[in-house]
Amino acid sequence: MKYFESIEKSAELLRLAVPLMSRQAAALHPVSYAVWYEYVAGNNPSLKAAVDAHAQGGAVLDENATTELFRRHIAERDEILAQRVTDGYDKVMADIADSATQAGDSASRFGEVLEKMRVGAAKRTVSDIDIGGLLDQTRGMQGSISSLKDHLNASRREITQLRAEVTKAREDALVDGLTGLVNRKGFDVALQACIAGGAEEAHGPSLLLADIDLFKEVNDTYGHLFGDKVIRGVAQILKGNVKGRDTAARYGGEEFAILLPDTPLAGALHLAEKIRADLERCRIKRGDSGELVARITVSLGVASFRAGESPDVFVARADEALYASKKQGRNRVSAAP
Ligand code: GH3
Ligand code: MG
Ligand code: MG
Repeated sequence: MKYFESIEKSAELLRLAVPLMSRQAAALHPVSYAVWYEYVAGNNPSLKAAVDAHAQGGAVLDENATTELFRRHIAERDEILAQRVTDGYDKVMADIADSATQAGDSASRFGEVLEKMRVGAAKRTVSDIDIGGLLDQTRGMQGSISSLKDHLNASRREITQLRAEVTKAREDALVDGLTGLVNRKGFDVALQACIAGGAEEAHGPSLLLADIDLFKEVNDTYGHLFGDKVIRGVAQILKGNVKGRDTAARYGGEEFAILLPDTPLAGALHLAEKIRADLERCRIKRGDSGELVARITVSLGVASFRAGESPDVFVARADEALYASKKQGRNRVSAAP
C-alpha cells in the first residue's frame, strides 16, 4: 500500500484533484484520478515534472497522455525499479561465476601440467623439462586471474551503483516533491528513530506543528498555483530555521512539523516564536504582476516529549496546542500543557 494519507488529507486532495482533472480531455476514470491525486499530493516528483512539462506547452491531457503518465510514473514505478535491481544483481552474479569458472579451469590445467612434470621429473634432466610449455601455462593462468580481477572490479562498481539507486529511490519516497522537505512518511520515520534512541534524555525531543492561517482564502483569492508558491516559501523559512539533527517536514497540505531531538520546551518555544515572526515579516510576490500580497501568517503548537508516551500522543499534544493558537486568533504560538 503506497497511500498513507488520512481521510481528512485524502478528502483535501480530492478537492484539489477534481478541478485539475476535469480541465483535461481525458474521461474522469480512476486512472485519471490516480494521476491527479499523486500530482496534488506532491510526492511523485517524476510525475509532477512530466505533467508540468505538458501543461507548459498549453496542452491538456487526453486519454493517451493520461494513460501513459499513469503507466510510466505510477503503475510501473515500483516494478521497474525492483526489476532493474533484480536484473542488475543477476547479471553481476553471472559474470562473477563465469570469470571464476574460467580462472578455475586455467588453474586446474596448470595443476595437471605441474603434476605431469612432477611424475616425470625423476627420470628427466632439467633440459628435458618443457620450459616453453610451462611458461605458456603460467601466462594463461595469469591472464585468467587478471581478467577475474577486472570482472570483480566491474561487478563491484555495478553493485555500488545499484545500491545508490535503491538508496535514492528510498530517499525520494520520503521527500515532498513540492517543497523538498521530508514528507509525512519521512517525518514518521524520523520521529520513531528519535523516540527509540534516547527520548529519555532531559533535553527534548520537542515538536513544533505549524499551519498556515486562512490558507483557503489565499487559494481562493490568488489561485492554487500561487498557493503552492506560498507553501514553498513557508518551507524555505522553516528550512532556514533548523539545523543539525532537526527535521523540518511537510506534514500535510499546508501543515508543517519540526522535530527537534535535542531541544527542551523553552528552546522550542523560542524557535517557534522566531519562525512566526519571520513569516509575519515576509511578503510573497505574485509572479506575473509583482504585486505584493497580504501577509502570510502561521499558527504554531509546541510540545515537549514526555517519557513513555507514544508518538501519536506526542503529536496529538502538539496538535492541541496548535488548535489553541488558532482558537485564540491565529498568528501565535502555544505550548502543550
Ligand atoms: P486555518 O487558519 O483555520 O488553518 O484556515 P485554513 O483556510 O488554512 O484551513 P483549511 O484547513 O480550511 O484549509 C486548508 C486549505 O489548504 C484547503 C486546501 O485546499 C489547501 N491546500 C492543501 N494542500 C494544498 C496544496 O498542496 N496546495 C495548495 N495550493 N493548497 C493546498
Ligand atoms: Mg490545515
Ligand atoms: Mg490552515
